[in-house]
Amino acid sequence: MTYQDTDLMDYDEVLERFDPVMGLEVHVELQTETKMFSASSTDFGAPPNSHTDPTCLGLPGALPVVNETGVEWAIKIGLALNCKIAEYSRFARKNYFYPDQPKNYQISQYDEPIAYDGYLDVQLDDGTTWRVEIERAHMEEDTAKLTHIGGADGRIAGATHSLVDVNRAGVPLIEIVTKPIEGAGKRAPEVARCYVAALRDLVKALGVSDARMDQGSMRCDANLSLMRKGATEFGTRTETKNINSVRSVEQAVRYEMMRQAAALEAGEEIIQETRHYQETDGSTKKGRPKETSSDYRYFNDPDLPPVIVSRERVEEIRATLPELPWVKRDRLQKEWGVSDAEMRDLVNAGALDLIIATTEAGAKPDEARSWWTSYLAQKAKESEVELEDLAITPAQVARVAELVREDKLTNKLGRTAIDGVLAGEGDVDEVVDKRGLEVVRDDAAIEKAVDDALAANPDIVEKYRAGNKKVTGAIVGAVMKATRGKADPKTVNQLIAKKLS
Ligand code: ADP
Ligand code: MG
Repeated sequence: MTYQDTDLMDYDEVLERFDPVMGLEVHVELQTETKMFSASSTDFGAPPNSHTDPTCLGLPGALPVVNETGVEWAIKIGLALNCKIAEYSRFARKNYFYPDQPKNYQISQYDEPIAYDGYLDVQLDDGTTWRVEIERAHMEEDTAKLTHIGGADGRIAGATHSLVDVNRAGVPLIEIVTKPIEGAGKRAPEVARCYVAALRDLVKALGVSDARMDQGSMRCDANLSLMRKGATEFGTRTETKNINSVRSVEQAVRYEMMRQAAALEAGEEIIQETRHYQETDGSTKKGRPKETSSDYRYFNDPDLPPVIVSRERVEEIRATLPELPWVKRDRLQKEWGVSDAEMRDLVNAGALDLIIATTEAGAKPDEARSWWTSYLAQKAKESEVELEDLAITPAQVARVAELVREDKLTNKLGRTAIDGVLAGEGDVDEVVDKRGLEVVRDDAAIEKAVDDALAANPDIVEKYRAGNKKVTGAIVGAVMKATRGKADPKTVNQLIAKKLS
């Protein structure tokens, strides 16, 4: 049988014969107000080509100026990754023909990056820690965005033409590159996923990026090679691109392990190439043969001075680092009294940050947890969006929780209030007002409803008096129906008990 690029070896068999070696390159878009080397806005979602200027358009004579906040945030990321911060670093030009970069070179850093030699201790699924060594974190600029028209799902293959949006060109990027990750064996895909998730949480906590893989503000390329058991040199790597979720990072690594093993076993040579991750079936497809760095003809950018960072400045920036996400997570887990598994579920559901923000807006941790993991999770699922994309803010959820806590809304009415907010009817109090949701506090009205319900259900009254105290559910139900669910349940129960005693 002839070998095909889609052949896979069984995962366990791969591990009997090979050791995986991984390298992860993560690009993070910084949310600075302006671009890395010019004054246009970095706002996402603006009309195409509305945020441009001579520098990011590469017009003759335009000169770049370094964004100071961009440098500070790069240092912040470097420090959080336990890196050394260079006293002296430089920008370099990475040259090639870019249809999406009018200058035809990208300003990046090459052999003198701002941060280098760090590590990130990553928590794996079973709670153990894996240390991922960081080779460097360097500053660069993003390219413009190309949209291919006419082909299948926006791909270049089969497209009739492409559109260029320069808004993204020049947006600050930090590229974080790991040293080769060896010895993870069967856990390599898991290490990759947990590392990227930790990095995402980290940059979000630092407040430097929203790190949305689905929107491209965080992007990961996964390099993978295999070593035959007992070999002493690394094999040839492939670099998988287009990975747009943390789960897909795991799958891409796993797939490449199985694919490369099958190829090697069939006597094929792995060639250094880029591959494209296929979201539809979790496979990777051949891209282009990979250039080596000498192909880019890197040289120091003569338009930009070196970046010189005093040790005092580094310490000032270090002092601004917030509590790191895993430290915060451990602290909250203890405070909330939840298990490792529960905590992991909150993280995986993308609920943790929302719950934290909801408690910061005044809700109790149990209330915040319960709203986000039950009703709101259900709503997100129904409308097929991420929790964080629901049209409700943590402050609004906290307000609903408060109204329920103060017995001004029942749980059920709280859910209706949330429906109203999600439907765009306004803030929580507005919805409660407009929909007339507040529970009925008018005791006379409730008392009448209770009397009516008791009169209509003599059999239940009899059973209750005979000692079966559990039968009042039907009475409560009738009262709720009569008041359209707005009677305060506590008052109703007290009244029923009083009338029947
Ligand atoms: P490139 O310019 O090709 O993107 P980088 O140095 O930016 O190269 O990133 C390469 C990544 O791959 C790094 O994380 C590095 O540790 C890793 N790497 C290098 N050699 C191998 C190999 N043989 N197998 C797996 N990963 C590798
Ligand atoms: Mg690279």
